[in-house]
Amino acid sequence: MAFSGLDIYKLLPKTNCRECGFATCLAFAMQLAKKNISIDKCPYILADAKAILESAALPPIRLVTIGTGEDKLEIGNETVMFRHEEKFRSPCGLGIIIEDALDDLTIKEKISRINQLKFERVGQALQVNCVALRHSGGAGRFENAVKLLLESTSLPLVFINDDARGLENACAIAKDKRPLIHCATKENLSVFADIASRFNLPLVVSAADLENMQGLISELKAKGLNDLILDTGKKDITSKVWDLTQMRRQALKKSNRLLGYPSLVIAENTDPYEEAMQASAYIAKYAGIVLISGTSSWEALSILTLRQNIYTDPQKPLQIEPKLYTVGLAGRESPVLVTTNFSLSYYTVLGEVEASKIPSYILSVNTEGMSVLTAWAAEKFNAETITDSLNKSGVKDVVNHKRVIIPGYVAVMSGDLEEQSGFKIIVGPKEAAGLPSFLKNLN
Ligand code: SF4
Repeated sequence: MAFSGLDIYKLLPKTNCRECGFATCLAFAMQLAKKNISIDKCPYILADAKAILESAALPPIRLVTIGTGEDKLEIGNETVMFRHEEKFRSPCGLGIIIEDALDDLTIKEKISRINQLKFERVGQALQVNCVALRHSGGAGRFENAVKLLLESTSLPLVFINDDARGLENACAIAKDKRPLIHCATKENLSVFADIASRFNLPLVVSAADLENMQGLISELKAKGLNDLILDTGKKDITSKVWDLTQMRRQALKKSNRLLGYPSLVIAENTDPYEEAMQASAYIAKYAGIVLISGTSSWEALSILTLRQNIYTDPQKPLQIEPKLYTVGLAGRESPVLVTTNFSLSYYTVLGEVEASKIPSYILSVNTEGMSVLTAWAAEKFNAETITDSLNKSGVKDVVNHKRVIIPGYVAVMSGDLEEQSGFKIIVGPKEAAGLPSFLKNLN
């Protein structure tokens, strides 16, 4: 829990010696509470008090990194229960499980499918974030499959293996890729802790209930392991969401450091629709990594779309650069459509214009990321702002006509806009879905 200025002041020497550069200890405390300065600026603070303040400054849920390089996955560092309180910070990682019992060719085909699960939505790249290899085959299969994975994907790896020897061999092979080990339990704790410690790897710790979980975490912390991820094992969806919620609540509301770690959920199900539904529930409440078994595009895209929506900063709508965009081989007679710079509005219009196969221009007006009707109500998408945007966009230099198409929902502004801009205003359909037929019949 963050300390207030007064909480911090109580831990300071209260001598007002000014060596920190502030006139009083209270002034120093207030700046420290705002994170404007470092505790090290006070040379007289006692070691115990310093340790308390440094501990309070740590994020309530530890940031844990899996993998290396551009594709590394960072989870944790969350500070709120609900995204509208601020935002969720580290998007939940989506991973796909591969069994080492599969033959080499099938493993390679599955990795290839996973590598192709990349999408673009409203201007953002979406992709699967890790591959989980699970031990279910014979001796040596796990190590063999690890080598295949290292040859075939740059995605971070999760090793699900309860055989310590096979796991240790795999970690020795892949240690430079910083794989995640799944999982330390009451039965294998010291052996798995030793492997994680020796290779400096993040470790999943698993216990069915939160009390036992905290006991295991205490032991692991005593061994110097801090990059931990929590898994309460296989349960029905209600129990699992309860666990995830309690862990988040304990970490954020009760400052319980023993549960201040991200979590992992295995959501695999033989029914892909059930699997997608469960994965979505866990992403919403509050998984750090969700593992599934399906490799279908529809399943990955639906889960990643939900994740994108949940992890978008609610105070900063996704927006694109406001400017004139060219669609296809647009020429001097091509139509000009006007919309806002809210990503979803722009990309929806773009998709329909592309579907029409009519080369066009789309003028995206700066509405600070608001959609058409919201921006109109907030007076950010009106005759003045659109006229200003038309004048600055250079549209007059690329077309021979003076006609623009506005969304049907804001038809009411067409008179004012025509008067102010000097353009002939054509009222388009209310919904973007009507654009293909509208554009084809425009002439
Ligand atoms: S250096 Fe420390 S003791 Fe001196 S005024 Fe600053 S906070 Fe107070």
